[in-house]
Amino acid sequence: MNFAFDNSYARALPELGVPWRPAAVPAPRLLAFNHELADELGLDLASLSAEDQAALFAGNQVPEGASPLAQAYAGHQFGGFSPQLGDGRALLLGEVVDRDGRRRDIALKGSGRTPFSRGGDGKAAVGPVLREYLMGEAMQALGIPTTRALAAVATGEPVYREEVLPGAVLTRVAASHLRVGSFQFVAARGDAALLGRLADFAIARHDPGLVGRADRHLGLLRAVAERQAALVAQWMNVGFIHGVMNTDNMTISGETIDYGPCAFLEAYDPATVFSSIDRGGRYAFGNQPLIARWNLARLAEALLPLLAGEAEAAVAQATEVIDAFPTLFDGHWRRGQRAKLGLADVKPGDVQAGDAQLGDDWLALLQAQQVDFTLAWRALADAAEGRPAPLRDLFVDRAALDAWLQRLAQRWAAEGRDGAARAAAMRSVGPWVIPRNHRVEQALAAAVKDGDLAPFQRLLAVLQRPLVDDPRFAAYAEPAPRELTAGYRTFCGT
Ligand code: AMP
Ligand code: MG
Repeated sequence: MNFAFDNSYARALPELGVPWRPAAVPAPRLLAFNHELADELGLDLASLSAEDQAALFAGNQVPEGASPLAQAYAGHQFGGFSPQLGDGRALLLGEVVDRDGRRRDIALKGSGRTPFSRGGDGKAAVGPVLREYLMGEAMQALGIPTTRALAAVATGEPVYREEVLPGAVLTRVAASHLRVGSFQFVAARGDAALLGRLADFAIARHDPGLVGRADRHLGLLRAVAERQAALVAQWMNVGFIHGVMNTDNMTISGETIDYGPCAFLEAYDPATVFSSIDRGGRYAFGNQPLIARWNLARLAEALLPLLAGEAEAAVAQATEVIDAFPTLFDGHWRRGQRAKLGLADVKPGDVQAGDAQLGDDWLALLQAQQVDFTLAWRALADAAEGRPAPLRDLFVDRAALDAWLQRLAQRWAAEGRDGAARAAAMRSVGPWVIPRNHRVEQALAAAVKDGDLAPFQRLLAVLQRPLVDDPRFAAYAEPAPRELTAGYRTFCGT
């Protein structure tokens, strides 16, 4: 027995899944395995040979106790509604209660065609699988809620995209795979009873405090809004661009999910888009809070039949939740920003308004002078210690920076914290290293073209300690050459 499965989704919501088996693959080989996460899950794999592990995580061997199924969901993709998407290349194997008592989904991605595959082949390629692995672990290390990779396995099978690529399967661990699109799927079918069961399932799983309450559906909407506001605020404060914030890629749990075309900003510009399919810039960096609100409005719509039955005022209150989202987001975002500016948390009031202006003016400076987002924040910590040179070196118009820095220094002085303590606090929230696009591409290219996983493992190790500047790994902290970032494109297709 390796996994102690307890499959509550399969039991509670059989209408929202089709029992299915993973496709067998010819030559499974373990590319990466997340020992830390396996420990967290209480997995005992010591008794399994490397071959058996590879077979297990390729889907060739369905583990005992699993009840593999393709989940049904709908979704708005780039604003257009598809009433049926579903797991076209993924399977939920089941759920495990981890060492801390948290229920976690174990799913395969790239495990072959399902009834939801439409025209797709149900497969995934090594590059995107390793990209999802890397990005998820980077987010985890940054303290950002995320689904995580447990294993990446090469299948020994070709996958046909624009070119022929080596195939792979990712094992993904998630607080759940419930999405805004899960609710949309049921709502679109007009099945109020099933909608109620889905909501109760989600509430029991993610908001147990609401169980049995008369206003629990409004409570669920509020809770998802709160989690998404907090999540997207964290994205915005580290420069993360999700790239494909369709409603089927927005979780109820508040975890980041589906690392397809995501990438981190280099030079600060809210209009930044890396995804090749996002031609209109719908999911540009600066649009993410607006899109989160738009997606939540779709969740509210889906919940409407339940809200309407809940209380006379519930529909109006749901509207209030959506209307209040920008303020909710702003609170989280500004709190994170103030910490990065080296300001202690303050109570709401006039100081905060001044801090927001300082934050806005800083971002405007970064944008105007195309300064690297990550390096700038990090160098600001040096400035807090009385060493402004590294920061000034990043700017062309230093007079503008100096004038702004003087305002910040006055604000710092008003707090009376000493410089070293302030800088340490800033470095604890401002990463030294992020997954730089050129580094990610190098690591993936080595794995795909040369079968060399060493660059991937090195990058992963560096990203697992993002706050600590370690001169040995200085090359990983450096931005990509400007011309490389300008033409950088990412592609969907895990
Ligand atoms: P994503 O862009 O990964 O969020 O996927 C959107 C939808 O397309 C989901 O329903 C996926 O299951 C489906 N899909 C994406 N790629 C494939 C594929 N290669 N084969 C089958 N279905 C896919
Ligand atoms: Mg998706």
